[in-house]
Amino acid sequence: MKTCKINAFDKNKRISTQDLLQLIQEEIDKGKTDFEINACGQHDIAGALWAKNKNKKLNFTIRNPGQRVGAMAMKNTFITVIGSASADVGWLNSGAEIIVKGDAGDTASHCAASGKIFIAGRTGARSGALMKHDPKFKQPEFWVLKNTGSFSFEFMGGGIGVVCGFECGDLPSVLGSRSCVGMVGGVIYVRGKIEDLASCVEVVSLNKEDKKFLKEGLKEFLEKIDKEELYSKLTKFNEWKKIIPASKEKKVKKISVAEFKKNHWFKEGLFGDLVEDNGEIFYLGQSGCARLRKPFWNKKLCIGCNLCLNNCPNQAIEKQNNNYISKDTLCTGCGICEAVCPKSAWNTEDIF
Ligand code: SF4
Ligand code: SF4
Repeated sequence: MKTCKINAFDKNKRISTQDLLQLIQEEIDKGKTDFEINACGQHDIAGALWAKNKNKKLNFTIRNPGQRVGAMAMKNTFITVIGSASADVGWLNSGAEIIVKGDAGDTASHCAASGKIFIAGRTGARSGALMKHDPKFKQPEFWVLKNTGSFSFEFMGGGIGVVCGFECGDLPSVLGSRSCVGMVGGVIYVRGKIEDLASCVEVVSLNKEDKKFLKEGLKEFLEKIDKEELYSKLTKFNEWKKIIPASKEKKVKKISVAEFKKNHWFKEGLFGDLVEDNGEIFYLGQSGCARLRKPFWNKKLCIGCNLCLNNCPNQAIEKQNNNYISKDTLCTGCGICEAVCPKSAWNTEDIF
């Protein structure tokens, strides 16, 4: 099919992001699947597009995109950025393949839930942060040829990050500073120096499956970014390490927020030089009639396992004579009781 070429400027006037996205969607609705887009920094290009026939592949070649190229892009979307891309490449990627043939800005692959992102250069701060894995879908992959900026992979809950540390010279860490803070799931493969990792993770050696995954994955990655010649250099697995969430035994002991602020955050408290901070936490959840939802309990379904009682974050559930009662003054309608109940005995309904 003929490629649809779009210049995102008209008579030297840049067209808006919204107009460009509408134009692309109109062409998709007419049946177009292949796009070449010369952008002027417009945002969200090729993200979250629905082809009428969901099995149709949508192909994009993009130059000079703005932020969030491929954000929330779905399965069967294939994006190649010629040159570098700005922040949020593949934000919340939902199944697309995204190739950046240069560097990527901050927060590349942030929140990615599925699909693959391939970066031929470096990425900025907070890249790979909050990646996750819903077992209903294939886990997300995020491949970087060189290094990431600081705070990379923080709060990672699932998925796979691969940082090849190519041409990183004297960098003290190919993952930047304070990487992996709050990481609870997933795996990161790293080649090159790493330091200043969060204490919630541990560094281990590769096993047979890891090497197999990298052998196959690196082949695909290097082909996508036109760097096949690096394959033998990057497959010396004694140069690689694996980062995973620390086992329970190795995790640091939990401490109170007040103690954390006093001894581990800024030593004097966040604004210690200006105001006194006693570590008190202000609770902002809406309860009572300000809630949007309220849980209802069905006695006939309940088996009395107490899961709801033990998991309610607000201690709102009380057991009285084998009946479970949610106290309006404490309940925020969060729905956790409904989610944990094995018998669907709680049902949270909108009350507005
Ligand atoms: S909705 Fe949330 S706060 Fe309310 S009872 Fe259930 S778990 Fe507790
Ligand atoms: S979790 Fe469900 S079954 Fe268990 S006590 Fe609560 S309502 Fe009953």
